[in-house]
Amino acid sequence: MLIQVINPMMRKKVLPGFDWKYLHRSARNLAAAVGALHARGYVIGDLNESNVLVNPMALVTVIDCDSMQVKIGSQVLPCPVGKPDYTPPELQGVPFARVQRLPEHDAFALGILVYQLLLNGNHPYRSQWLGRGDPLPIEQRIKNGWFPYSRQACPKEIALPPRAPLLGWLYPKVSVLARRCFIEGYKNPKQRPSPREWEAALAEAEKAIVPCFKGHQYSRHLPQCPRCQRP
Ligand SMILES: [Zn+2]
Repeated sequence: MLIQVINPMMRKKVLPGFDWKYLHRSARNLAAAVGALHARGYVIGDLNESNVLVNPMALVTVIDCDSMQVKIGSQVLPCPVGKPDYTPPELQGVPFARVQRLPEHDAFALGILVYQLLLNGNHPYRSQWLGRGDPLPIEQRIKNGWFPYSRQACPKEIALPPRAPLLGWLYPKVSVLARRCFIEGYKNPKQRPSPREWEAALAEAEKAIVPCFKGHQYSRHLPQCPRCQRP
């Protein structure tokens, strides 16, 4: 299951040979699968880390298809479910059975899954709360658009968590897409990268992965291996 690939501890157990290249390939194949469904008029709706299988070749299977939104002529059979952690801001708190899901809604969940795959399982809206009281739950932070890598989007009480991965570790075209998904895509969902855009950027990113002398993998646009800099 995708969750086992995303989570570094679980991944070590189930797919020990899965390196950063395989993670890029899995993300790219996931984008291709989502794009293929969109091209045929389906919207997954409930795209999350438990509805996707990944095999040792990084090939991806989307499961739980009975909840997908299907269009038959002018009739739309809705997707009545969704996970708050993968739900875009504009649908947070909205009863799913009453809305027509759009490809840009899947694009938000796809962006989160790609991000988690490439950055050690971190959720892009994970942040540190420096204010008083309890931190808001992740769904509320999504609703507020508090992507912690954007200072303008966040109140001053929101900071990056200690040892958070940096967006700059990603291949430049991939980090640009991540920012578009979670910053520009907040106000305008149509700005979220399409599955095809992810596919193209991830293919390039995979080719740019190089090993360091300790055997880590990193993107060659960086002057040094980030894992060696931050052991
Ligand atoms: Zn290294």
